[in-house]
Amino acid sequence: MNSHSSDVLILGGGMVGLCIAHQLLERDISRNITVLDKEPELGRHSSGRNSGVLHAGLYYKPGSLKAQVCVSGSRRLRAWVEERQLPLNPCGKVIVPPRAELDPQLDVLAARGRANGAVVEFWDAQQLQELIPEAHSASGRALWSPNTAVVKPIKVVMRLRQELAERGIRFLQDQPHWQARPDQQTLALTDGTRLQYGHLFNCAGLQADRVAHQFGVGSHYSLLPFKGLYWQLKPGCPIQPRTNLYPVPDLNVPFLGVHFTPSADATPLVSIGPTATPAWGRENYRGLQALEPAMAAANLAVLARQYLANQGGFRRYVHEQAFLALPPLLLRAAQELIPAVRAEHIELSQKVGIRSQLFNHRTQRLEDDFLCLPGPCSTHVLNAISPAFTASFALADLILDQALPTLNLP
Ligand SMILES: Cc1cc2nc3c(=O)[nH]c(=O)nc-3n(C[C@H](O)[C@H](O)[C@H](O)COP(=O)(O)OP(=O)(O)OC[C@H]3O[C@@H](n4cnc5c(N)ncnc54)[C@H](O)[C@@H]3O)c2cc1C
Repeated sequence: MNSHSSDVLILGGGMVGLCIAHQLLERDISRNITVLDKEPELGRHSSGRNSGVLHAGLYYKPGSLKAQVCVSGSRRLRAWVEERQLPLNPCGKVIVPPRAELDPQLDVLAARGRANGAVVEFWDAQQLQELIPEAHSASGRALWSPNTAVVKPIKVVMRLRQELAERGIRFLQDQPHWQARPDQQTLALTDGTRLQYGHLFNCAGLQADRVAHQFGVGSHYSLLPFKGLYWQLKPGCPIQPRTNLYPVPDLNVPFLGVHFTPSADATPLVSIGPTATPAWGRENYRGLQALEPAMAAANLAVLARQYLANQGGFRRYVHEQAFLALPPLLLRAAQELIPAVRAEHIELSQKVGIRSQLFNHRTQRLEDDFLCLPGPCSTHVLNAISPAFTASFALADLILDQALPTLNLP
């Protein structure tokens, strides 16, 4: 029987897992690291399917983990991308209130952004028109974030994987079926190989709760998947915003609302989305792929209870975002930002992602912040939601700082 021993075993080679491996090397904590992923290629899930926006840190409550890592993480990832001359669109971002009553939220965002160390400026209608002539702000005011940028997420994942492999990290891919033996600090693979580890990091993204449960961790948490469909402006469309254009979000709801994002290509393609519709499976990207009817039914029951209790502004989410997969409603949401957009200007994009939100069955609430739980010789990253891609280097440091006292490495 084959046996292999690593100081650190990382389950999941998305941005969070890869950045933990990177920071273990950079901080000289260990060089004997294995990354195990169920897929034959990395980037098949959230880290390769997101909008690629490097968020500037405006949204998050000061003091939250998101606020602690977003600004510095964004700066670090951007510098990393620039050093390697990977595609980057330094286009900034404008946030506008689609309805006048949302205008005061701009002040909240500006205050949060400044408290988090982000650069923000108020713009008037003229400044907005100069950058995006077709954009609409119900109050005439807008918030400008010059440090927001856009990258190509799959290229980032691929390059990071390549560099880590060159630095001696061991990658085991295409490993969907393994068995955990937490008491023996071992993972058994289907071919009989036993992987012994000193410490295990569970960075399994959309499956992280299920993995944690196998280690007896976080049994009162489960992830609810929401499908993010994108549309795009046709290349010949006369309207082509050169910057990110976002609505003022409802800060009680976990999603930022449908927005326009120019890609990091030489000729940027502008996407519109993503939507946030309850998904029929954690990996149900298309059609009948990876359907999980029992899970979907249980999740709909949770969402229905949330709706009835109106927990965390949930009714507003359902009314404004849950049905945006329907093209007329998506178009209406896009028109709130750019009224001149017409049905003939847009087409469905190939891009689709699934966002997970962690539900706490004890408090009956969605968790809003990153959550990292300790387990037996292990650490479980349970809610690596947006901006975990942006923040990944800084988030990895935060996770390592929390785990270091319990790391029992040679
Ligand atoms: C539509 C969408 C848009 C988004 N936009 C942005 C954005 O613009 N900016 C931003 O900062 N964030 C954005 N996010 C969030 C961001 O993509 C995630 O926060 C981030 O990618 C999470 O990384 P991860 O490594 O935790 O998860 P993942 O990238 O999902 O990686 C998890 C890995 O674990 C593997 N895995 C799963 N189960 C197992 C198992 N049992 N055994 C072994 N391996 C396993 C998977 O194959 C996968 O490779 C967006 C997300 C979505 C879905």
